[in-house]
Amino acid sequence: MACPLCKGNTVSGTTILPFEMKNGKVIVVLNVPARICNQCGEEYVDMKVARKVEQLLDRVERDGLMMGFVEYGDAA
Ligand SMILES: [Zn+2]
Repeated sequence: MACPLCKGNTVSGTTILPFEMKNGKVIVVLNVPARICNQCGEEYVDMKVARKVEQLLDRVERDGLMMGFVEYGDAA
């Protein structure tokens, strides 16, 4: 896939996504699979992955987890 911003090449990698929850707590999801532009550094997470991250955040909220970091791999 070409980067929509600069038309550079994207490569497979992982990224870190921070989310602010309703209670003001910040959850950081580690090791999220992403395509990363090797020209401008922009990161793209596909819909399938984004949905999984949402499910993971739902579960984190339900569990009342107070930890700020979760691994993307825990959603699988
Ligand atoms: Zn780019």
